[in-house]
Amino acid sequence: MNIKDHIRGVPDFPKPGILFYDISTLLAHPDAWQVAMGRMAREIIKFQPDVLAGIESRGFLVTAPLALKLGCGFVMLRKKGKLPGETIRHDYELEYGTDTIEIQKNAIAEGSRVVILDDLLATGGTMAAGVQLLRKIGAHVTGAGTIIDLAFLPGKQRLKELDVPFTCLASYD
Ligand code: 5GP
Repeated sequence: MNIKDHIRGVPDFPKPGILFYDISTLLAHPDAWQVAMGRMAREIIKFQPDVLAGIESRGFLVTAPLALKLGCGFVMLRKKGKLPGETIRHDYELEYGTDTIEIQKNAIAEGSRVVILDDLLATGGTMAAGVQLLRKIGAHVTGAGTIIDLAFLPGKQRLKELDVPFTCLASYD
């Protein structure tokens, strides 16, 4: 099965000139979703994770089933102000301005092997921020994964520079 057959490209979303890769069609197709998660589980297990960290919000959709399949914990990396209790933050640069990503304090034991997951890797800014936040709390980031990689953007290179091995199901040039 070609996973790309179940991913829809939506032109001019969220802004004119941007082709948005929509995973709703993959999520809505139970057989394709099952195959996608099975393939991803087989790649992610190679990073030998204790914990999977999912990036808000579509990253959660990928992380929850994989955590169940692999018998790992699932920890949420969220936008500012969404998590209760004490949190640790990491600020990062966007094209225009800055953003903040947060994790609950003590969510991950120091030295845990963590794999970070999202639906799509583009410039890598979001994923790199997640890696830096996880490192801040003493996690050992053993890998990163997404369903989609936009190979014409520097995300993969960014993860390489951070020394984080990366895997994805569908790459677009
Ligand atoms: P980056 O930080 O790598 O530039 O962008 C990746 C983040 O933006 C991911 O969290 C992802 O959910 C979101 N994103 C950017 N473009 C797309 C797209 O075309 N489709 C989907 N599904 N998400 C996107």
